[in-house]
Amino acid sequence: MAGAVRALIAGNWKMNGRQDSSAELVKIIAGAGSVAADLLVCPPATLIVGFAALARGSAVAIGAQDCHAEPAGAFTGDISAEMLKDAGATAVIVGHSERRHYHQETDADVRAKALAARRAGLLAIVCIGETRQEREGGRTLAVVGGQLEGSLPDGGDGNDIVIAYEPVWAIGSGLTPTGGDIAEVHGFIRERLRARFGPPGQGIRLLYGGSVKPANAAEILKIDDVNGALVGGASLKAEEFLAIASVCG
Ligand code: PEP
Repeated sequence: MAGAVRALIAGNWKMNGRQDSSAELVKIIAGAGSVAADLLVCPPATLIVGFAALARGSAVAIGAQDCHAEPAGAFTGDISAEMLKDAGATAVIVGHSERRHYHQETDADVRAKALAARRAGLLAIVCIGETRQEREGGRTLAVVGGQLEGSLPDGGDGNDIVIAYEPVWAIGSGLTPTGGDIAEVHGFIRERLRARFGPPGQGIRLLYGGSVKPANAAEILKIDDVNGALVGGASLKAEEFLAIASVCG
């Protein structure tokens, strides 16, 4: 884990959860006091208002999984960053590989969404990561570097941005890169952030995501320049999510 930066453990519930899932959030809130990490739960949009009300005043923040780039307008089915803020979210995931894949989102789209998050006063968790084919072709750093360059908004000092490195092939597969591979990519991203933002680039949190579980969290979260995790499947169960976060202290 990288020195002075407080870790962030973020849960991406994806398209899972109904009103009665608040029982899991209540358990997460109850356990949050004993972990030395910031906790963020990103439920589906239908649950944000209720979850934000439940989490108010607690150590758990509530986020969203996507936003539209525009603040309002004729975009049927979409939700703006301002609406998410109004609903009680403080963060939004942008550019998740499932959005890039199923909704053909480009780096330019992701950058526009990250800018929308900034405009609305939300923390943007910008996801990047290579496919299996790209890794096997030796193109991981080129792909990740290109996504980073294309997806990060200009301006700002990086305060409102978190990067999540999520190898596409590791998401939901039970597979994870070696510790050395994670260290290489995170070190590379850190260099790029320092070059782009100067000293503040050192403080931007870099999350690893892809099949993080209680069993591998300690090993992953101790790697240099890994400042937390973006957790999918294991974030749906409070016990697992808290077990991952408890590795942070
Ligand atoms: C994710 O979807 O962001 C993710 C990391 O999923 P999982 O932990 O299930 O691999």
